[in-house]
Amino acid sequence: MSNEITRDTAFFAFSPDVEPVLHVKQGEEVKLTTHDCFSGQLKTTADTLETLDWSITNPATGPIYIEGTKPGDLLRIDLHEVKATGSSVMIAVPNVGALGHLITSEETAILENRGDMVVFKDKVVVKQNAMLGVIGVAPAAGEVHNSTPGTHGGNMDCTLITSGSRLYLSVAVEGALFGCGDMHAAMGDGEVVVCGAETPGEVRLTPQVVDLAGLPTPFIENDELVAVIASAESLDDAYKLALDMMHEFLTKVAGLPVNDAAMLMSLVGDLKFCQVVDPLLTVRFEFPKSVLADYGFSMPA
Ligand code: CA
Ligand code: ZN
Repeated sequence: MSNEITRDTAFFAFSPDVEPVLHVKQGEEVKLTTHDCFSGQLKTTADTLETLDWSITNPATGPIYIEGTKPGDLLRIDLHEVKATGSSVMIAVPNVGALGHLITSEETAILENRGDMVVFKDKVVVKQNAMLGVIGVAPAAGEVHNSTPGTHGGNMDCTLITSGSRLYLSVAVEGALFGCGDMHAAMGDGEVVVCGAETPGEVRLTPQVVDLAGLPTPFIENDELVAVIASAESLDDAYKLALDMMHEFLTKVAGLPVNDAAMLMSLVGDLKFCQVVDPLLTVRFEFPKSVLADYGFSMPA
């Protein structure tokens, strides 16, 4: 297959100025490999942040130029497969992350990926839910480092960004300049210690511009639900933005009456943390597809 790139084509900030490494047509499947968020620098428990080259952390594979995309387009990324390969790494570091005030000594842990499970210290076996922490498109101008989430996507660390889901992003530059990385073999909502099970991986996806006017982005769907993803400097600002985005989707795109949308968001919607450890904080608001169907709305096939 020609639409294939490797983790060697990594970039570190979403920007119109990063040269694309691959041009693909819409509707064509792309296969790529990704580094873990440390570019594979932490290989054993003896490797710590002291020797880490920070300039190559949070790599994303790409950017990929998607032919025929232009500013204002709604880009849908169909994630066919998000698969962890190799082992994973986690760190606990004093004064880093949301638990850093409780941590007194730095530690690196290596987690074995065994089948579809991930094993923590030979004690705890966790079901894998391989997800992409970083996924996005270039902003219209300037650059957004891959450590930071935003309206362009980026480091959202959302556990829904996994095999079988579809992510919607707004294109800001010609070609979109898409990239992804920072795979986690498993992670809890919040990413509180500052990482998930950071793993290298393989991704198969298809990019496609779709016509769904007014969809607030970033937006994600899987078989059961739709969700909006919102990032801001405070959790208060992030959750208010997520609520407004979901209400806008329900009323303007799905066609629910204003009060129905509000009451149903309170009845069957879920406000959840994605991560509380990045330069901006990220939350999502989930809403069940079955209730959209009750109002005669379904997402385009
Ligand atoms: Ca991340
Ligand atoms: Zn990560």
